[in-house]
Amino acid sequence: MKVLVLNCGSSSLKYQLIDMENESVLAKGICEKIGMDGSMISHTPTGKEGFKERKEPMPDHKAAVKLVIDALLDKNWGVISDMKEIDAVGHRVLHGGKYYSESIVVNPDVKRVIRECFDLGPLHNPANLIGIEACEALMPNTPQVAVFDTAFHQTMPKKAYTYAIPYEYYDKYAIRKYGFHGTSHSFVSKRAIEFGGLDPKNSKVIVCHLGNGASLSAVVNGKCVDTSMGLTPLEGLIMGTRSGDVDPAVVQYIANKENKTVDEVLNILNKKSGVFGLSGVSSDFRDLEAAANSGNERAKDAVEAFVYRVAKYIGSYVAAMNGVDAIVFTAGLGENDGKTRSRICAYLGYLGVKLDDEMNKLRGKEMVISTPDSKVKVLVIPTNEELAIARETIALI
Ligand code: ADP
Repeated sequence: MKVLVLNCGSSSLKYQLIDMENESVLAKGICEKIGMDGSMISHTPTGKEGFKERKEPMPDHKAAVKLVIDALLDKNWGVISDMKEIDAVGHRVLHGGKYYSESIVVNPDVKRVIRECFDLGPLHNPANLIGIEACEALMPNTPQVAVFDTAFHQTMPKKAYTYAIPYEYYDKYAIRKYGFHGTSHSFVSKRAIEFGGLDPKNSKVIVCHLGNGASLSAVVNGKCVDTSMGLTPLEGLIMGTRSGDVDPAVVQYIANKENKTVDEVLNILNKKSGVFGLSGVSSDFRDLEAAANSGNERAKDAVEAFVYRVAKYIGSYVAAMNGVDAIVFTAGLGENDGKTRSRICAYLGYLGVKLDDEMNKLRGKEMVISTPDSKVKVLVIPTNEELAIARETIALI
């Protein structure tokens, strides 16, 4: 069975074709600058030559999906000879609101809900729906599955997801914490229980998904009980370009002082803040480390603030769960950057966390990086959102 996984962003489309017999990637790629000048596609088939950044007009996501299918079928760099070889398509969908706690085969009701959630995910949900409809038009007999980024967090109790604002706003507009990166938190927490030898029915796990976007989740017996992102991905940790938690009055203050609209200020908090905004150097931790090493104080401060915020959230989740058995690092930074892991764990001595410094130097693979006598296991589990989406898709069809 072969599953095509599509992840439509506001102006991009990432894809992977996965052979589920052995869970191997047959081809992957990305369409960028969709709907803009200079749109391009990069296609990497496994075991043969592909192409990079080939300019192609892509007025919308439908045109992009068509190009992806053409690339997969191409005589030279294709990996299938007939579209019928694609047994199902799994779509990453940003926001399922309060409606979906699991993935679901797409039907008219599912599309209606994705549309109803446009306000909650204004950049992604419309692109996700166009991707689904483009696939329906191009391969009408192939099942489509929606895998929601919010679904895993739907088990949070009300005390964790409510904001202390007038209740009518929850009733009228469903304003509450939803959380994101759900596919990753679900995949990584499950794998941590298996790999870390924890008891699935009696386990407390904190997953630290630290990439360009970053979020934490608290997971009790495999179910999410709290997470750091909120109504939108802006809440919580300091991220590459997102501010994470700030006093909401900051928005009004900047708007008044700089004569900007609320939308403009939110754009700044989403795209120009985080470690990028603090350092003025980069959103990438490799650049920040290099800058800090050459004496850039702002880069050093940005990394320190990032680490401090992660450590504070870990502490709050230990309190929420009344303990923790394992702390798990994942995503670009979590999987690869031993220095940042070690700086975070340096705050956790009170929990009896002890890192194995040699193991912590390794990167990008499943491993236990705590010492045998550490009171809490510290793990690295590489995330694989595409494979998780493909597995959910297969399970449903
Ligand atoms: P996203 O999917 O949110 O775009 P990723 O999970 O791919 O992000 O993570 C990207 C980030 O991971 C980069 O911005 C960088 O800060 C960090 N990163 C990746 N590799 C390394 C590394 N070897 N050392 C330090 N940081 C790294």
